[in-house]
This record gives sequence, C-alpha cells and structure tokens, in this order.
Amino acid sequence: MKFDSILLPGIDPKRPLVIAGPCSAETEEQVMNTAKQLAANGVKILRAGIWKPRTKPGGFEGVGSEGLAWLKKVKQETGMYVSTEVATQKHVYEALKFGIDLLWVGARTTANPFAVQEIAEALQGVDIPVLVKNPVNPDLELWIGALERLSNAGLTRLGAIHRGFSSYDKKIYRNLPQWHIPIELKRRIPDLPLLCDPSHIGGKRDLILPLSQQAMDLNYEGLIIETHCDPENAWSDASQQVTPDRLKEILDTLVIRDRKQSTEDLSDLRKQIDELDDQLLELLAKRMRVSCEIGTFKKEHNMTVVQTGRYDEILNTRIAQAEAMNMDADFIRTILEAIHEESVRQQVIILNQ
Ligand code: PEP
Ligand code: MN
Repeated sequence: MKFDSILLPGIDPKRPLVIAGPCSAETEEQVMNTAKQLAANGVKILRAGIWKPRTKPGGFEGVGSEGLAWLKKVKQETGMYVSTEVATQKHVYEALKFGIDLLWVGARTTANPFAVQEIAEALQGVDIPVLVKNPVNPDLELWIGALERLSNAGLTRLGAIHRGFSSYDKKIYRNLPQWHIPIELKRRIPDLPLLCDPSHIGGKRDLILPLSQQAMDLNYEGLIIETHCDPENAWSDASQQVTPDRLKEILDTLVIRDRKQSTEDLSDLRKQIDELDDQLLELLAKRMRVSCEIGTFKKEHNMTVVQTGRYDEILNTRIAQAEAMNMDADFIRTILEAIHEESVRQQVIILNQ
C-alpha cells in the first residue's frame, strides 16, 4: 500500500490533527452553530454523521442527503473542511456531489468486506481522503483488509481511526480500547496516519481527555471528537459529546510529547531491556524443554497432557507471587495461560509422534 501522509492541504502538521463536530447533523441551525464555534476555536475539519448506522431500528437514522447542503454551507461560510461517514455507494455519490472533503467508513461497515468493496469501487479514480474505523470486532486483518480494498481502488490519502471494540460486558468503556491492536497496526503500516476516537471508546464525556492523552502518548497523529453546540440534547450519543469550548479546554490540556525515536539517555536503559528480553526468551525456551521431557514421560506412562489440579496450583501460586512483586494479577494470568498453551501444544506433538 502506498500512502500520502498529508490528508488535506493547509492543515498544520503539528499533532494532533483534529476532526470535531456532532455525532449527527440534526438541523441546519445546529450544524452551523457548532461549526462556527469550532472554527472560532481553531478547528479546521468538521465531522457530522448524515446517515447513522443504528444498532436497533427506531433510533435517529440521520437526516440524509438534505444535511449535505448544510455541510456545504459550513464550507462556504467558515472555510472549514467537512467530513461524513459513508456506508453505501449511494452515500459516496451523494457526498461527492456535495463536495464533502473527507469520508470515513464506520465500524459496522468495516466489518463487512462486501460493503467496503462496494465503497472502494464507487471511489475508483477519485482522489479524496478516506479514514477507516476499526471493525466492531477485534480483528486487525479485517481492518487492514478494508484499507487494502481502498488502496487497490487507487486511493492514497488513507488513514485509520481507532474507536474501540464491542464487548458483551460494558464496564468503564462503551467500546474496549484494546490498545495493542492499533499499536500493531502502526507497527505493520508505520506511514498510515492513525487517529483516536475517544468519544466512541469512552461513551462518556469525562473519558475524552484521558483517552486523548493516552492516544497522544502512543504517538497517534490525530483525534476525532464528537462536539455539539448542545450536547445534553443531542439526538444521538448525547452522553459522549462536548461543547466546542470544552473541546478547546481538552485540546489545550493535552501534553504533546516529543516523537523522537530514541534519545541519548534512553539508550542505556534500552540496552538493559534488550538484555532482559534475551534472558526471558532463554528462560522460556528452557521451560519448554523441561515441559517436553514431561511430555515424553506422560507418553511412556500413557497419561493425559492436561492435569487440571497441577495447572490450578501453578496459576494460584504464581499469581500470588507476582502480586507480591507489584504486578497485576490479570497480566500474570494472561502470560501464564499463554505459556501453558504453548507447553500443551508442544506436549501434544510429542504424544502423537
Ligand atoms: C460515529 O462516528 O458517529 C459512528 C457511528 O461511529 P462508529 O462507526 O465508530 O460506531
Ligand atoms: Mn456517534
């Protein structure tokens, strides 16, 4: 995939790139009012959903094409760039007809390769920036696949939006961040601009600042934040929207750290980490060798691979020990489970030789 790191001309390359605006365009007045306040606060790119994908029927499904004329008016009156979500070919054609500057593909659409392919085909030969939200399910390949479909259609101004992943039990977040997934995306495609959508991850206004800070600390290029002139009375996602003034406060509070890859004083510490990782790998390999010997013993004595009692004891003692060493119980459990899974895999091979 080939990328153009400049999504839109004339935007300050300084981090964060900010896209802000209401979840949904509701009325001409609401769109204009929000946009004007945002423009006065220095925001250059407006977002507004025109077609809203709703989990259940009966919710507000967006104003449809009528709202595109309001976005066009925002462009004319404020000079802002305008953006919206597209989910079908018809959306693409309508948005292009009204001069929308940037499109994004929503999380539910990214999860559907047929829909993404349809959008890609409608955009064949069009030079427009397109941002792809992560699919609702935590599947990095599906996310990358959607980007590839658009890239294959000739689009080069591409970017990704991390909006979190659905989960059955919602505690703190509306959508679990699972930061390792966008981090892996960045490792795999370093040139792809990555934005965070703290509004849809958090689902609550109060989480926007800490999530945005975390995204900046993880080197994201930008933020897309739902902003409404009257958030409490928004027709969709009311609890996660902020006013344009609150958005400005949030942006002014963010600490933007240097992106430098390595600094002099870090190199010693990094060497220590390399060394320790080396030792960790050696130890793990040694543990696997012992576990293979156990596998051979089990084979000779016709025993099953998994001995539940023993596994329980390992988990309990190690987790207690790790907690005493200031490590999180869930963290250690994840590691032990991964080690156990690999041990079992290797023993099963031995048993079946
Ligand atoms: C949105 O941006 O308003 C939206 C519907 O988001 P998502 O596709 O991330 O759910
Ligand atoms: Mn929304």
